[in-house]
Amino acid sequence: MQLSRGHIKSRNRTEIFSPILSRLIWTFRRLNIAHILTWITYPGLIVASLSGFFILQDRGMNLAIATLSPVVFGMLLIVMIERQFPYREDWQPNRGDVVNDVLYMAIVQNILPKFLGFILALTALNAQLFDVESLAGLWPHHWPSWGQMLLMLGCAEFLRYWLHRLAHNWPPLWRLHAIHHSPPKLYTLNVGRFHPFEKTLQFLCDALPFMLLSVSENVLALYFVFYALNGLLQHCNITVRLGYLNFIVSGPELHRWHHSQRVEESNHNFGNNLIIWDLLFGTWFLPSHRKVLALGLTNSNYPMGFMQQLAIPFKNNPDKFSREP
Ligand SMILES: [Zn+2]
Repeated sequence: MQLSRGHIKSRNRTEIFSPILSRLIWTFRRLNIAHILTWITYPGLIVASLSGFFILQDRGMNLAIATLSPVVFGMLLIVMIERQFPYREDWQPNRGDVVNDVLYMAIVQNILPKFLGFILALTALNAQLFDVESLAGLWPHHWPSWGQMLLMLGCAEFLRYWLHRLAHNWPPLWRLHAIHHSPPKLYTLNVGRFHPFEKTLQFLCDALPFMLLSVSENVLALYFVFYALNGLLQHCNITVRLGYLNFIVSGPELHRWHHSQRVEESNHNFGNNLIIWDLLFGTWFLPSHRKVLALGLTNSNYPMGFMQQLAIPFKNNPDKFSREP
């Protein structure tokens, strides 16, 4: 059979490109995208969001936009990965979970801190209850912003560590904190599930001291970008491996044990962003040969709706005080 010149050309092309194509597909399959995501999701998103913040700031973008854009972008990406490659299929949120989480995110995590900041500006600062000028002298304002942010992170984490540890061991505070542990699953959006009173206590630890020290808005914003991204990733339902980072940051591998239903497991890993204080005070916990089992509270009748959860700390025996020592 005679072949036309065009046929020979296309056959040659197929012969040349076909092995390359199959080699590429083979390499891609071998690389396994889910496996790559396991290792790059956490560091990749943290570095990308912080870089995004610096780039937007350098371009003269409004500070609020430069801060919120990388956080919102990061959150959408995490939710997308979570949908495609969940660590546990049974941890996927249902519609009711999402509605309640969005209410927590909007009211407790966004409106409440702004309200607290506004009250602070109206009262403590304006009424000169504190000598703001001499307090400001205690802070190294001349350091580069990343250096100030790391100092702020270490100090805020120390206060948040003890607040969190107290919340697990002192029943009146546990009544508030039980809300955060109420979901029997972990996924990105339930990071914001905190009672407004507990959020106010957190504000006293990780925002008020630094506002009184006159830490600049840029440093507070940089801290917020890391705080928000780490919190979203810490609760994510994605298979992630952090390796040696598990000795520095409080990521998802460690935090899943903190949400265990077994008190002897969950009374560990209290760090909010960093895990250094847990290492120092002996509460670091990461078993290497087993996975966490049931999450949440022992009381299966604990209410899950936003409005009921606002009232539950003030009702009798909300969690049967299962965590009382
Ligand atoms: Zn806790």
